[in-house]
Amino acid sequence: MKFLVTGGAGFIGSAVIRHLINETDHAVINLDCLTYAGNLNSLDSISQNKRYTFTKVDLRNAAAIEEAIKKYRPDIIMHLAAESHVDRSIDGPDDFIQTNIIGTFNLLEATRKFHSTLPKERQQQFRFHHISTDEVYGDLESTDELFTENTPYSPSSPYSASKASSDHLVRAWGRTYNLPIVVTNCSNNYGPFHFPEKLIPHVILNALQGKSLPVYGTGSQIRDWLYVEDHARALITVATQGEANETYNIGGHNEKSNLTVVETICSLLEELSPKKPVGVQYYRDLITFVKDRPGHDQRYAIDATKIQKELNWEPTETFESGIRKTVQWYLENEDWWLSVLNGDYRLERLGN
Ligand code: NAD
Repeated sequence: MKFLVTGGAGFIGSAVIRHLINETDHAVINLDCLTYAGNLNSLDSISQNKRYTFTKVDLRNAAAIEEAIKKYRPDIIMHLAAESHVDRSIDGPDDFIQTNIIGTFNLLEATRKFHSTLPKERQQQFRFHHISTDEVYGDLESTDELFTENTPYSPSSPYSASKASSDHLVRAWGRTYNLPIVVTNCSNNYGPFHFPEKLIPHVILNALQGKSLPVYGTGSQIRDWLYVEDHARALITVATQGEANETYNIGGHNEKSNLTVVETICSLLEELSPKKPVGVQYYRDLITFVKDRPGHDQRYAIDATKIQKELNWEPTETFESGIRKTVQWYLENEDWWLSVLNGDYRLERLGN
């Protein structure tokens, strides 16, 4: 089968593509416009494979998307391209509206036109898989509540509101135009090739450079962490076996407060990288509490029973095993992150 993956140069998209090329026989077209978050170096290990093609297309350009879909004639579209950083969405929401909402609309329209030209059998097998986030559900107050596929939407940030809008568009195209869509809503991901502005890589790289480790508020916010390769496997399972017009929540059953995440990274670094920058006695001494993000959600946690029962997917990594692999990866892949740091981005975390 032919997969067209949008946002394939990003953190999760590149994990999906590496998985499709390394573990399956499918062909992959990576459609990405390479924003600051897109990095083709994350695909070095598979970029020479004959089943892989990259095409530089911006989702804000409707004609270019239509042309690419006509040219490549995919069997499955996995839509991951998005502006994805909450802090950036607070600072400047415009790109989030343009890419996440208008870009998704452009992609849906191009897909609908293409889908209508296919023979009946291919029409039924076709899937438009929209990759979304648990942040569309807003936050949870009590500790025993979980997000299910039926939790009402209540997004808090411009990022989550733009993702919620795109989810609604995708479901409407499924219902109104009979486009066979599937939607997944996933919790926070972490792992190799994660752009350093996000909490976990940011903390690892700042600690290695003896810089402060900023924690919003008191660090009590809880996130449900999923190792990115477990997510990639879940996504391919849903794209190939999911029921049309269904939604699947994906999560790792790994609820941790932000402070626990930062402290865990500090302890792992004590063990795996004991030689510290000058002036640093313990990595955890670098932890600095900073002013909280406006509208910061307190807790996200996913009920992933449906995907487990219906599609037999389960995460293979616990937070403890995944975070250890992640810290090790950053220690062993300095070339990858140095090239990111030497580009536009200099370990600055927005909101500070
Ligand atoms: P990312 O920011 O690492 O990558 C986004 C990719 O999309 C980049 O390669 C970028 O170049 C591309 N892109 C952005 N705007 C584009 C445009 N206008 N046209 C074409 N390409 C464009 O994001 P990620 O963390 O890999 O997230 C991927 C998807 O998964 C997003 O839709 C996000 O909402 C969702 N998601 C992420 C998480 C997480 O924890 N990272 C959790 C749940 C869901």
